[in-house]
Amino acid sequence: MDNARYATQVHGGYGFMNEFPVGRFYRDAKILEIGEGTSEVQRMLIARDLGLG
Ligand SMILES: Cc1cc2nc3c(=O)[nH]c(=O)nc-3n(C[C@H](O)[C@H](O)[C@H](O)COP(=O)(O)OP(=O)(O)OC[C@H]3O[C@@H](n4cnc5c(N)ncnc54)[C@H](O)[C@@H]3O)c2cc1C
Repeated sequence: MDNARYATQVHGGYGFMNEFPVGRFYRDAKILEIGEGTSEVQRMLIARDLGLG
């Protein structure tokens, strides 16, 4: 996600447009923080597994 965000920033306005692959990279990276459990939910599950929550 950090790399995709940085790549979008480097490309400026083009990085935001669907015509350029970097815009898709940003969306594709973001789903990894959402699909099969969001980052927040994953942290809760890990904490519970460690007996912390
Ligand atoms: C492109 C795509 C493909 C998908 N494919 C599949 C698939 O093949 N199989 C499948 O089973 N699912 C699939 N999903 C569903 C995906 O797993 C869910 O979208 C994901 O688990 C998040 O659930 P939600 O959308 O209901 O968001 P919500 O659970 O409503 O979350 C919304 C926000 O609230 C936060 N939140 C929710 N509960 C808590 C909490 N208790 N504490 C703190 N924060 C919380 C979340 O972190 C998030 O920021 C897919 C989703 C997308 C977008």
